[in-house]
Amino acid sequence: MLYIAGMDANTVSFAEDGTFSINASKEQLAANTGLRVLSLIAGSSKRIGLTVGNNVAKQNGSIPLTLMFPIQNLSTTADPRGNKQTLPPNGFDGIVGIFSSMAETRLENVGTKKNPVIGTRPANLGAIAFHELTENFFKTNSGLQYQPAHDLAIGAERALRRERPELESFAFGAGPFVARIP
Ligand SMILES: [Zn+2]
Repeated sequence: MLYIAGMDANTVSFAEDGTFSINASKEQLAANTGLRVLSLIAGSSKRIGLTVGNNVAKQNGSIPLTLMFPIQNLSTTADPRGNKQTLPPNGFDGIVGIFSSMAETRLENVGTKKNPVIGTRPANLGAIAFHELTENFFKTNSGLQYQPAHDLAIGAERALRRERPELESFAFGAGPFVARIP
């Protein structure tokens, strides 16, 4: 969360129940895409949660987060893609779960069109959380389906990276993470 807020991390405060609020100026919000997303989530009438760990709560249970399945992005917005939809736990309209060891276990290739692999860069929990939370906001709050919500989250991360060029040393939050550290 504080990673997402970046240089405006001091405008984020957490309550004892784990909810958060943002107290930022218009100028701060305008200049910081990460802060803007957090502010949209804090101000939404929908309740969106984030868990980083080994499992994430779902309705009537929990889902393990593993190397094979490191991310869950659950929403109450109806998903017509077929498979029976897994719903967030009671009290939540949306929830994101990220395997806590994910960043240490993923690498992404970096290169040029001509030379697609000239190096690698590590995944980053903050970047992954930014992508998944933005996507979940557009699904849960705005009622979008996976693809448009995912695409908007990619656009938001591009904007975030223009504001914070230092993020380019880390893999894109949406992936693809091409290699696994054994
Ligand atoms: Zn996505």
